[in-house]
Amino acid sequence: MRGTALRHQLAELRGADVPPRPLDARALAALAANPGCRRRALLDGAGVDKAKLADALGSPSGFGQSQFALTRGNAFEAKVKADGGTELLRLVRERLGGGPEPVPGEARTPDLTAAGPEGRTARTALALREAAADAGAWTFLEHPMLALDVAGTPAFLEPDAVVVHPDGTWTVVEIKSFPMIDGSADAAKVGAAARQAAVYVLALERVAAHLDPPPRIGHRIVLVCPKDFSNLPAASAVDVRKQVSVTRRQLDRLTRIEDIANALPEGTCFDVTHPAEELTEAVEAVPATYAPECLAACELAFHCRDRARAAGAVTSLGRGLRAELGGLTTVDGVLAAAHGQAGDPRDPAVAALRRAAELRAEALDFQKGVAPVCR
Ligand code: SF4
Repeated sequence: MRGTALRHQLAELRGADVPPRPLDARALAALAANPGCRRRALLDGAGVDKAKLADALGSPSGFGQSQFALTRGNAFEAKVKADGGTELLRLVRERLGGGPEPVPGEARTPDLTAAGPEGRTARTALALREAAADAGAWTFLEHPMLALDVAGTPAFLEPDAVVVHPDGTWTVVEIKSFPMIDGSADAAKVGAAARQAAVYVLALERVAAHLDPPPRIGHRIVLVCPKDFSNLPAASAVDVRKQVSVTRRQLDRLTRIEDIANALPEGTCFDVTHPAEELTEAVEAVPATYAPECLAACELAFHCRDRARAAGAVTSLGRGLRAELGGLTTVDGVLAAAHGQAGDPRDPAVAALRRAAELRAEALDFQKGVAPVCR
């Protein structure tokens, strides 16, 4: 009953007859990248299309891959998965073990086709159950469908692949088109892939929970990328334990979007057909915690960045700096503290700012009076 009321409330926030935008692993992973943001939690929980909302607010996100990058990525993925996943299974075994060398053509590759996401989810769960019951061989599940309950509604998720090892372990495989050079790839991209894979691990845990005994789900996923700009695959095992626990916590918190929604003014609506001023008011009614990391993870980043800068929020300068400044949350507040006009001098952040301001003043005096101007 409570779930129905919440669904109704969230539908009103989206606008009349606006279908919810389904949550995917990328969106869920991005939630974990900024767990404190109520704005994102509410908009994602309500199924608001944030890219369209950003357009309507006049701050388009510019997200998305070029057609060329998509085609290249798809071709690479097809190559890695060719021949019933023989090369992919070889890479997984090379990184994680869990069974003898896979023999080409002998791995199980269950057919996962079914009608609709619910049908595909059920088909995937059956294939995983069968693989668990009949361990001893490699099983390669290509584009399985998993479901995760998010704020009372199922989110359907499609990993690139899941491998069941002969020893019974389940491993998530992510195939990305960014290069792995000399065995390592861009840390930010690997981090995003790890957060995405963590969502799949959580969804696999839901399937495993119904099995007796529950299978072991690998806390290390396998990331496959092009090797040194070629189209040959290179693989790396990535530990996602931290990402799994952060995402689990964040998803649990998402169920509290009811509280966020209840705190909104009457009539708040994110329907993108409404005038930009109304939408701005609606968006600003939900507290946000902007950080530069949002630029790589959230469609509303340009809007939130403009607002954070206009408000002089120090968070727009980075989370690290924000953490060091303690209770000083605005640039004006920081300057006032540095010049002795505000703040408790016993506060280490205030003391450090005053010392820095003194050093700066001394340096400027020195430059004016003694030192030659060097350029
Ligand atoms: S861009 Fe805005 S809405 Fe998105 S996560 Fe950052 S602060 Fe939240």
